[in-house]
Amino acid sequence: MSEFIAIDGPAGSGKSSVSKAIARQRGYGLLDTGAAYRALAWYVLEQGADTDDVDAVLAAASDFDLRLGLDPDDRTVAVGDTDITTTIRESRVSGAVSGVARVPAVREQVNIFFRSLVANAAYPAVVVEGRDITTVVAPDAPVRILLTASPEVRAARRAGELTSENAADVAEALHKRDASDSAVVDFLNAADGVEVVDTTHLDFPQTIDAVLAVIDR
Ligand code: C5P
Repeated sequence: MSEFIAIDGPAGSGKSSVSKAIARQRGYGLLDTGAAYRALAWYVLEQGADTDDVDAVLAAASDFDLRLGLDPDDRTVAVGDTDITTTIRESRVSGAVSGVARVPAVREQVNIFFRSLVANAAYPAVVVEGRDITTVVAPDAPVRILLTASPEVRAARRAGELTSENAADVAEALHKRDASDSAVVDFLNAADGVEVVDTTHLDFPQTIDAVLAVIDR
């Protein structure tokens, strides 16, 4: 039975790269919960269904053969035999994912999957990153962290990652997704007992140090 290291935060807060670096450094597993929601959104789109159609999303979620591993050095995401590791980062999937993630029955199903992955993991701990890990998926986790950064810094980081897209469009899409996502789970404010690490003025190594300081406390 692995322990949860729960890290929540909005897009561009640095949580994905920080979680991966910490998992590698410490020999922990890594679970990117956003990838599961992205994979489901991709699957619904692939079937030609509407991601706002709750029945279609629920039907897709129930026959969804998601392959998502915990190895921080192998970030492959697949549905059945189809490798969708890079496809799920496309803006058409980012634009559709909030619709899928807002369905409560889907969230319950996905959370059961996350908890069983961690329960059966062959790692001493798993860094689980997402939006509701500290509050819903693992509220009793021994380590619970909320990574934040100002909206300007987050948009700039995202635009830097997605060089083919225009920075203003990225900022707008990010803002829209945050607004939609934070209506479902509040990842902009820390719940009781959750440690906030604000990365606005921190570079990558400083952020890692700040997060490790919380883990080692
Ligand atoms: O972290 P990432 O940006 O890849 O997450 C993609 C989407 O998945 C989020 O915009 C959100 O709609 C959803 N999500 C969620 N709960 C999580 C992780 C992600 O609702 N724990």
